[in-house]
Amino acid sequence: MIPITSLAGQSVALFGLGGSGLSTAKALMEGGAYVNAWDDSPAAREKAAAEGVYLFDLREAEWPGFAALVLAPGAPLTHPQPHWSAAAALAAGVPVIGDIELFCRERALIAPGAPMVAITGTNGKSTTTALIAHILREAGFDVQLGGNIGTPILDLEPLSAERVQDRVYVIECSSFQIDLAPSLDPSVGVLLNLTPDHLDRHGTMENYASIKQRLIEGSDFGIVGRDDDWCEAIFQYLKRAGHSVVGISNTRPHALASVGYEAGRLRRAFALPGLKTLEENLFDLSRAPALRGAHNGQNAAAAFAACERLGLPHDEIGLGMRSFPGLAHRMEQVGRKGRVLFVNDSKATNADATEKALLSFDDIFWILGGRAKAGGIESLRPLFGKVAKAYLIGEAAADFAATLEGRVPYEQCGTLDVAAAAAARDAAASAAAEPVVLLSPACASYDQFANFEKRGDAFREQAKALLDANAAQGDLF
Ligand code: ADP
Repeated sequence: MIPITSLAGQSVALFGLGGSGLSTAKALMEGGAYVNAWDDSPAAREKAAAEGVYLFDLREAEWPGFAALVLAPGAPLTHPQPHWSAAAALAAGVPVIGDIELFCRERALIAPGAPMVAITGTNGKSTTTALIAHILREAGFDVQLGGNIGTPILDLEPLSAERVQDRVYVIECSSFQIDLAPSLDPSVGVLLNLTPDHLDRHGTMENYASIKQRLIEGSDFGIVGRDDDWCEAIFQYLKRAGHSVVGISNTRPHALASVGYEAGRLRRAFALPGLKTLEENLFDLSRAPALRGAHNGQNAAAAFAACERLGLPHDEIGLGMRSFPGLAHRMEQVGRKGRVLFVNDSKATNADATEKALLSFDDIFWILGGRAKAGGIESLRPLFGKVAKAYLIGEAAADFAATLEGRVPYEQCGTLDVAAAAAARDAAASAAAEPVVLLSPACASYDQFANFEKRGDAFREQAKALLDANAAQGDLF
């Protein structure tokens, strides 16, 4: 735990006791603040009280007496309207902040300059965060990985002036968390990409982009994806403003001083005075099995630039990329039987995410379906040529069959276990060099599973059972 001393002796309001809220309450108490915590859920309140957190119904509060309101990132700060606690705090002039803000203030007090890499973007945050953490860990750093991924930031190991050489905080930040962290000032900031998302909570795309931009503006060194118009505009603005920033791009792989990714390689162009532009190959992505696909090129390029900035030699970065195991449920390679590869992409709950997986493989035996999102799989039509056969499950099966009809052979399977067995059977009989049994459902899981993790776990187990059925030929990763 990271005790928060910056509010010692002061009264602090805290709303939201699920997820990171409870850890924040404890970190504040440990640092000497008087915490007045509340949550609308009686169960969350009960749990917090059992762990020694003082509860106070903030609807009854005298707000000017609080030094801050610490708000859970799940509660709206601005849109569609401020949460009632935020509205009350703002009306009384009380700052509304989150756990990442508390971390940054503590870092400034206790260990200024302690290495901190903060990662944001619409897509690829978790993969890039985990990849950077893995590379640094393999290189011998004491990596503290958390934020919007896994461990809440204040549950990480304490900041310490003695550890600034080897302890690195690698923090995934959602837009909600950045919005609550006005002093966010990482050593290295990463902004991968921006597409419309969470606009219900941010009002407009402009507002969403300006929140994400703050993470880079506050950082000592910024890394910005240049493959969408919003991020490109941010990159250009920051360059003009004199910020230390590099681009990552596959639409401009030969841009000077950027990390480009193209045709399965990371590369960098540079110009020597009086000489033509030269290119340096940085890494061959085909050596990193968990980083298949152009989208992972962007993640890998960002990770490369971040680790290089922290002083890692290129060969050490390469070693980490190669041994990166990937994240569960995101194009996770769960096994291989002879030529047949089994891939769990259960996190793909919409067509956009599934598109990334279809782009990453050929000869696909595609398991899809569940609870469909608006638009279904219409947008994936240009990729249907990569699909050898589709196996339909869940509520969406009839609609998806209508889209596939006459374009892709398909089988109505009903449930995941039936689909996995049928796809494995057909893939084994295929003459392709690497047939892929791919669960990338383009649907939410709630019609048949509690969540996408449970769906992916079930597929992993089924793949394992299918492999075990003939263990002599099978290899589990
Ligand atoms: P996040 O944490 O931002 O949700 P993840 O790393 O968990 O992102 O990846 C979620 C899904 O987003 C992946 O399964 C993949 O389909 C897609 N994805 C990953 N990286 C990128 C990227 N750089 N650009 C676009 N889509 C991506």
